[in-house]
Amino acid sequence: MNPPVRVLYLAGSGRSGSTLVTTVLGQYDGVFAAGELRYLWQRGEVENRPCGCGRPLRDCPLWRAVTQELPVERAATIAAGLRGRLRMRGLPALLRRHRRGIRPVPAHPDDAALADLYAAVARHTGARVVVDSSKLPPYGALVGALPGIDLRVLHLVRDPRATAFSWRRRRGLDGDTDPELMSRPPVWKAALLWLVWNTVTVRLWGDRAPGGYLRVRYEDLTADPEPTLRRIAAFAGVDPDGGPFTGPATVRLTPTHSVAGNPSRHRTGPVPITADVQWRRDLSRWSYALVTALTAAGLRRFGYPWRRGGPGPAGAERSAGDGRPAQGGPAAAGGRPVGVGRSGPARHEEG
Ligand SMILES: [Zn+2]
Repeated sequence: MNPPVRVLYLAGSGRSGSTLVTTVLGQYDGVFAAGELRYLWQRGEVENRPCGCGRPLRDCPLWRAVTQELPVERAATIAAGLRGRLRMRGLPALLRRHRRGIRPVPAHPDDAALADLYAAVARHTGARVVVDSSKLPPYGALVGALPGIDLRVLHLVRDPRATAFSWRRRRGLDGDTDPELMSRPPVWKAALLWLVWNTVTVRLWGDRAPGGYLRVRYEDLTADPEPTLRRIAAFAGVDPDGGPFTGPATVRLTPTHSVAGNPSRHRTGPVPITADVQWRRDLSRWSYALVTALTAAGLRRFGYPWRRGGPGPAGAERSAGDGRPAQGGPAAAGGRPVGVGRSGPARHEEG
């Protein structure tokens, strides 16, 4: 029998730096940046959207080889089945099953195709680690229960005021010329989604630290890129020296074959990693107050300040699983901006 496929699953809420982390990890030896694999069936096979390499997915030689082993004629059905199984209203039952120690997402006939997908990706890329940035915790729970999968969860968290601001930006799904826009939930909804997905991620995997769960904050990552990526690489089980850093905060990116994700996944060449802090200036007082009120429980847990520029609440759990305090602590989230690239191309506004 083949050894299990190690999947580094990026979990949490959207707009938390997952595209950046996926693209950078994809440059390490033995790592394949697969992107948001839950979208392979719909956005990849059915809609034929661009792969990270720029070709329409069905024209990408790598994905053509992978999908030859999959029942792609049923892609639309598999995509619809996934949407049905991963609905928000199924969350209470999912968490109940998890607490009882049974499979959180019940088995389904399509699971064989999903397991085959990860096995085929590992076989065709030769990767020791497949990075799946699907983020949605229920999908991660589903993947973790598939046969032949060794799941490690990287939980990326970002200040919810920043993610709410980011969600409101008008952006094409695959770049500025794409007429189909990325979703733009109102700030109250973005805040609630942030709270739900981050809380569920901790409930599902938080007790698997340090070996199976690592939490990293976007603010710590952008304040200290190279050491943070080294920690993530070591957690994933890859050589931390094999990365793309040409300086403490600069990476040289080559194209990946990632499925879906933020349009920034198409960037190549030397790319500085800096924090996007436009929200600090441009998020309205009302939106700031609303998001803060709705996410108060999570702000405390993840070490974010309540007031703009204020100190974080005491006793926050930070950077679980890495065995050391977060760089800069809560002050880094609310204090002086770090490495700001306000209007330049260096800014990372991540999905
Ligand atoms: Zn490709």
